[in-house]
Amino acid sequence: MVEHDPVIGIDLGTTNSCVSVVLDGEVHVIPDESGARVQASLVSFLTDGSVIVGNECRHEQVVDPVNTIASAKRLIGRSYVSKEVKAALQAAPYKVVKGKGSVPLIEARGQRYGLPEVSGMVLRRMKDLAERYLGRPVTRAVITVPASFNDTQRQMTKLAGQLAGLDVLRIINEPTAAALAYGYGRGIKARLAVYDFGGGTFDLTILELRDTVFEVVSTAGDTYLGGDDFDNRLMRYMLAAFKQQHGVGLEGETLAVNRLKHVAEKVKCELSTKERAIVNVTELALDANGAPLDLRFHLDRAGFNERCQDLVQRTFLVCDEALRIAGLKASEVHGVVLVGGTTRMPLVREMVAGYFGRAPLVDLNPDEVVSIGAALQGASLDSDHFSAPTSGAAPHRAPLLLDVTPMALGVQTVSGYYDVVIERNASIPCEHTRTFTTSMDDQTSVRLQIFQGDSRIAAENIKLGEIELYGLPPAPRGQVEIQVTFEIDTDGIVVVTERDSATGIEQATRIEVSAGYAPDEVAQMFERGA
Ligand code: AMP
Repeated sequence: MVEHDPVIGIDLGTTNSCVSVVLDGEVHVIPDESGARVQASLVSFLTDGSVIVGNECRHEQVVDPVNTIASAKRLIGRSYVSKEVKAALQAAPYKVVKGKGSVPLIEARGQRYGLPEVSGMVLRRMKDLAERYLGRPVTRAVITVPASFNDTQRQMTKLAGQLAGLDVLRIINEPTAAALAYGYGRGIKARLAVYDFGGGTFDLTILELRDTVFEVVSTAGDTYLGGDDFDNRLMRYMLAAFKQQHGVGLEGETLAVNRLKHVAEKVKCELSTKERAIVNVTELALDANGAPLDLRFHLDRAGFNERCQDLVQRTFLVCDEALRIAGLKASEVHGVVLVGGTTRMPLVREMVAGYFGRAPLVDLNPDEVVSIGAALQGASLDSDHFSAPTSGAAPHRAPLLLDVTPMALGVQTVSGYYDVVIERNASIPCEHTRTFTTSMDDQTSVRLQIFQGDSRIAAENIKLGEIELYGLPPAPRGQVEIQVTFEIDTDGIVVVTERDSATGIEQATRIEVSAGYAPDEVAQMFERGA
């Protein structure tokens, strides 16, 4: 029997990434050269033309932020004109430029890179770490994405994996992976809520576990609520304290504000383990005589909690929504799984316990739980395909992941409205067929514009692409019928097939996304990475 390399599970995070693997039935979270089990999702382009990735870049991020790319995940699969890219243009110190077809590109040291290339570099680092740990080449991976990722974001993540030299066996949702980490192989029958509070986003997903079946019942999220909001709150508090101490306002002083933001995050994390934090920031500004002004103050956890309670409270609006969709009460959830750095805050844990009426599950590390689940999924796919049944051993059963689509899929109507074909929260994989007809006499082609989103106005949703069926037989309007099948596969990727009923012409279209790259650009990315 050919021995295949193990399948690794990668949590490709906005802030941090983590890689795990299953060896002899046991999950290993893979450390780096210095023992760190998570890597910063950072890429730095150095003066000598070399590129470094991961924790090593933390220093570069402070000294050379212009050539250090952070949070590529916020931009991957987005259009240059999207809100997220506009926000990055304002906030990110590195340069984002517009490529062909409104694709955002990163520019560093005179060279332009697609977002999948940048994420691909992070993934290659994770692959290298796994190879070092295992002492053998690694070629296959399961990669996780947020449940809220649309088709384009999933396709671009898959491309990032390919650019890293990985065969991406499956893209799975982060909450599903977290549930797998807790429930896989334990024969559990339970309803879990995955409470995922990261740096910039919050998501709540409810899953039903029935032995090997992991079914997502509902998912809801807030893409503008995360750990950063706590940092900003604390930073504003420090600005006010500085003004009170010295009568000097620092608003608009970018360098001082950035320094305080950095300090705010450190203080926040410190207050997760300590009752009290002391802040001492030197030389934040100069007084009228040119003497340096420092900020000194202290804050206890209770005071911090009081200032930030409302932010945690906002997560419960999202929880309410997810429970409403599922038709459940908070008390009907049997276990709450914590994911993401912000769930390390005692305030979050206390308030989550209060909301659900039970203490959250904390035996797995919230930074590792997603990659552990991805590795378990990878191992199960592996044994399904490759391991021959051994005598007497119980057959290994792969988990069945039943996910839902985070947003509706539909087409634009003549009047610019949005006609939903697959509803939000529909179980995937799924397939729906619709019949369309010509709107003019002797029309020989029909064009469909395909969108994902929940707005009634097509243009307010995310355009995935358009397809055209040519060669229709000339006939009075309304007489030619075209059947279009919309499919969302297990990776959450959209496939559309059009069929003209009269001629039987069929064309399958893996949607060529408008926020995507032209084939020659993708070829260039592979060349640069080779
Ligand atoms: P993630 O996106 O899951 O890596 O989460 C990153 C967020 O978690 C950032 O806002 C961090 O400041 C926050 N975070 C990490 N560790 C802690 C901690 N010990 N206490 C509070 N927040 C934390």
